[in-house]
Amino acid sequence: EVSETIGRQGEELSRVAFEEAQNYLPGGVNSPVRAFKSVGLTPIYADHGIGSRIYDIDGNQYIDYVGSWGPLIMGHAHPEVVKALQETAMKGTSFGLPTLLETKMAKLVAERVPSIDIVRMVNSGTEATMSAIRLARGYTGRNKIMKFEGSYHGHADSLLIKAGSGVATLGLPDSPGVPEGVAANTIAVPYNDLESVQLAFERFGEEIAGIIVEPVAGNMGVVPPLPGFLEGLRRLTTEYGSLLIFDEVMTGFRVHMNCAQGLYGVTPDLTCLGKVIGGGLPVGAYGGKREIMQQIAPTGPIYQAGTLSGNPLAMTAGFTTLSLLTPEVYDRLERLSAKLAAGIEANAKERGIPCSINRVGSMVCPFFTSDKVINYDTAKNSDLVSFRKYFAAMVEEGINIAPSQFEGMFVSGVHTDEDIDITIEAHRLALQKL
Ligand code: PLP
Repeated sequence: EVSETIGRQGEELSRVAFEEAQNYLPGGVNSPVRAFKSVGLTPIYADHGIGSRIYDIDGNQYIDYVGSWGPLIMGHAHPEVVKALQETAMKGTSFGLPTLLETKMAKLVAERVPSIDIVRMVNSGTEATMSAIRLARGYTGRNKIMKFEGSYHGHADSLLIKAGSGVATLGLPDSPGVPEGVAANTIAVPYNDLESVQLAFERFGEEIAGIIVEPVAGNMGVVPPLPGFLEGLRRLTTEYGSLLIFDEVMTGFRVHMNCAQGLYGVTPDLTCLGKVIGGGLPVGAYGGKREIMQQIAPTGPIYQAGTLSGNPLAMTAGFTTLSLLTPEVYDRLERLSAKLAAGIEANAKERGIPCSINRVGSMVCPFFTSDKVINYDTAKNSDLVSFRKYFAAMVEEGINIAPSQFEGMFVSGVHTDEDIDITIEAHRLALQKL
């Protein structure tokens, strides 16, 4: 039985399901934050989703702002995506041979992403960043990688240093299992701090293979680049012969039709993609200048492969999703997201609750702090106790947001004005419960 009204009215079936899952899966889940550990609640067990809505196994309905952590920019079970998937599935799900779908998809990505001439498809964002880093090291003959504190680039060893996302949510130190020798080749500096980047280059310049950066940080909450930051990274990497790698796994096709690099007009050497380009199926990709990408096997010596890479279903969901993303959709995302952010801000002001909102396009993040958030340290000033209570109240009111202060809300192209109005009202009620 499915509820007509939104909000969590019962959770018995989810509780039982979670208990059983813990016997067979680490912590009951296949990705840590799904366990809702940091917010101390029973996870919402998804049953199905339609458009902007999710329905759980207890029959509760929610307006969804997680969108599978970013991919579902056109909502759940979009009819065109589902239809295309059905047609592809009828023809077989994997061949291990080249297909026309892969070239069609690569061509579309190369057309839309300024830095990409050639692109290699993989199966996750983690694979994309891991492979891009191998390429940067192989291409430059250097070992060190620079990253930013509170950024998350997937769980490859060399990038799990001072990481954001679930690592930040769970307050974990750098992960055991990453060899010291690997960690020693990662330099982590504060986001938006060009001076630290400059100092690191002065000290290690000739050893730095590349900088990997989220052009809009999305794993310490949402943190936009300060004016000049991305331009400065471009200048310094060029000066020192290092590669600039944009990790656009989250921002790619999310913040702009031509990704964050199109929005800010800064062109990296390599770009990592994921989430939206898979349209809800497991996909990642990395691409860049022809000269660099040709160093990848089989044209070059740097090895990277994948049994399911370029998978027909994944290419179909991705291609269909990207085809749906017209300029009108981005206008709509901008309008609805601005309305949501303004509503949240007004609610907080009305109750006198400290709130600082960062937003780039459809990435929206209200921090429980009155300070401007520009890096991981300022993000950590947020009142996490208030966040926990707020999260619980939002779930009760029927709004599905990420169970972490260090993640934004994703608005989709199928959210309606009514969804946003309901959400702003739910947020108002949630703040009353703090
Ligand atoms: N890079 C960024 C910026 C991400 O946000 C994520 C995932 O959240 C990743 C990489 C890793 O992607 P995946 O979870 O598909 O491995």
